[in-house]
Parts: sequence; C-alpha cells; structure tokens
Amino acid sequence: MLRNALLYLSNQPTVFKFVRNNGLAKKFARRFVAGETAEEALDAVRALNEQGITASLDLLGESVTNEAEARQAGRDYIRLLDLIRERNLDANVSVKLTAMGLDISEELCISVMHGVLDRARQHHTFVRLDMESSAYTEKTLQLFEQRLYPAYPENVGIVLQSYLYRTAADVERSIQLKCRVRLCKGAYKEPPAVAYPEKADVDANYVRCMQELVRHGNYPGLATHDERIIREVKKFVAEQKIPADRYEFQMLYGVRRDLQEQLVKEGYRMRVYVPFGTQWYPYLMRRLAERPANVWFIAGNILKETFGRRR
Ligand SMILES: Cc1cc2nc3c(=O)[nH]c(=O)nc-3n(C[C@H](O)[C@H](O)[C@H](O)COP(=O)(O)OP(=O)(O)OC[C@H]3O[C@@H](n4cnc5c(N)ncnc54)[C@H](O)[C@@H]3O)c2cc1C
Repeated sequence: MLRNALLYLSNQPTVFKFVRNNGLAKKFARRFVAGETAEEALDAVRALNEQGITASLDLLGESVTNEAEARQAGRDYIRLLDLIRERNLDANVSVKLTAMGLDISEELCISVMHGVLDRARQHHTFVRLDMESSAYTEKTLQLFEQRLYPAYPENVGIVLQSYLYRTAADVERSIQLKCRVRLCKGAYKEPPAVAYPEKADVDANYVRCMQELVRHGNYPGLATHDERIIREVKKFVAEQKIPADRYEFQMLYGVRRDLQEQLVKEGYRMRVYVPFGTQWYPYLMRRLAERPANVWFIAGNILKETFGRRR
C-alpha cells in the first residue's frame, strides 16, 4: 500500500512544488540524488572514480512541456559531456527521451538527440536512453532502432525492463542488432496486461535475459541490487568462462554502497547511476517506493545528524 502511495505521489507536481524548498525534504533527497548542480554531481563522480567505480550521470528532468525546454535540456547535456571530458572523469550520461521533447514531437526529440549524440561521438563517449513507463517502450525502441542507433552505433544504447512480457523478445532483437543494453527490473507501476504482477516472475525473467545478454550481447549493463541475482550472474559467468570486461554491474547512487565496494574489490566492473538536478522529486519517490523502509532509514539518519549536531 505504501509503495502504491509513493508511486502515486511521484506523479504529483503540486506536491513537489510544496516540498521543493523544504530543507528536510532536500536532506531526504540527498541520500539518492548527488545535488542540484552539475558541480556537485561531478564531485560525486570524482569520489566514485577514486574508488574504482565508473558513473552514468542523469540530469533529472523528466517530461518537458515545450520546445524551448527540450532544446535547453539538450544543451545542458552537451555541457555536461564537455565538463566530464574537461575534468577527465570516467562517466557517461543517461537521458530520458521525454526530457528531450518526445511528448511534444518525435522530430523535435530526434533533433535534440542528434545534438547530444554528435557531442558524445566527438568525445568518444556513450549516451544511455533510460526506459520510462510502458506507454513509451515501443516508441523509444523504434526511435532507437530506426533513427539513432544506425547513425551512432558506438555512442547510444537502450534499457530493457524484466517486468515486461515483451522484454525477452527485445533482448533477442538487441542481440541481432549488436547494441548495448542495460537490463533492469523496471521502476514504474504497470498493469498486468503488459508486466508480470509477481516479483518471482520478474526476477526469473531477469535471470533468463541476463544469461542471454552476457553470453551473446554487446557489453551489457546488469543494473540490480538484488544479491540473489548477483550470485546468479557470478555463477553463470564462471561456468561460461566469460571474462569480467565483457559486462558491468550497475547500481544507483546511495543504494547498497557496501555491495558496490565489495564487487569492485572482487574484480567486477561497477558503474553507479548518479542523478542530479532541481527536478529530483519523482526520482526520489520511485526510489522510496522500491523500498519503503528507506523512508524510515533516511529519517533515522537525519535525526541522528540533527541530534549529533545539537550535542
Ligand atoms: C543503474 C540503474 C539504472 C536504472 N535505470 C532504470 C530505467 O531506465 N528504467 C527503469 O524503469 N528502472 C531503472 N532502474 C530501476 C530498476 O528498474 C529497479 O526499480 C531498481 O533497481 C530496484 O530493483 P533491484 O533490481 O535492485 O531489485 P529489488 O528486488 O527491487 O531489490 C533487491 C534489493 O536491493 C535493495 N534495494 C533495491 N532498491 C533499493 C532502494 N531504492 N533503496 C535501498 N535498497 C534498495 C534492497 O536490499 C532490496 O531487497 C535502474 C536501476 C539501476 C540500478
């Protein structure tokens, strides 16, 4: 029930307006969001790089409502790619097509993405298209396959979500295309018509898709904090004698930092997804919905810090 309430709240802009300037809410967000500015996010990336962890920066924006906002978002990403390069950081970027104007027009979105991908190619780096709710899956994959990937095969990749029934077929298509895929479980509230309602089925589908991608795919990103699944990956790559540079693990900023460090120590590649920006609210609410216990976890930390300072 709490999960559904948090997912519902993630779609309420009026609630965000209310909490945006609230210091306590910002402290809450800080555990999962690297800050509101590019400077803060780049500092977080430097700290990760020092621990042997690469990053993918996400400028939180979600849906834009007019062309000027979409073009501005594109320019912000281009500047971000330049800053990563100037600072010599080991990071790529993740973008949402709705932040690049997809809801306004496909042509606008493609035009903004060409700008971002031209710069990514110039810097020999990579742009991941995050996957949003199932209302966007087909459109995102079509634009990727028909418009973006043919023009920038080295610089752009997709995300597939194991909670969707269609994903096994999309994994096979990605293998034929030889494109790069991030595999995750999926973070949106989806109806049983398109997604497995049972967690056990989502997890089993993740393992099947992971095995296909690790064996036949092009450098898959295995995005999960699920220790059981991570054990399955380790077992599978050992059995198949797949070297550690053929795939990478990916986790979210602030989530299971112990596991991130441990995997790096064991010699696996790890990339952390680092979100930042002023529009942190829907992102934060999705993270809390994944693990409602986080609400109490973060509240406890804030209380400890506040109590500690007063002493
Ligand atoms: C790098 C990365 C990129 C992603 N990109 C997308 C995307 O483009 N589209 C999309 O729909 N989803 C995306 N996700 C989110 C993903 O779909 C899941 O919602 C999220 O990763 C939780 O699933 P899990 O695999 O960790 O497994 P779960 O079964 O949800 O969790 C397993 C365990 O991980 C820990 N855990 C999981 N989430 C949290 C949390 N928020 N806080 C603390 N502990 C937690 C808990 O210990 C939990 O028991 C991404 C996730 C990652 C890691």
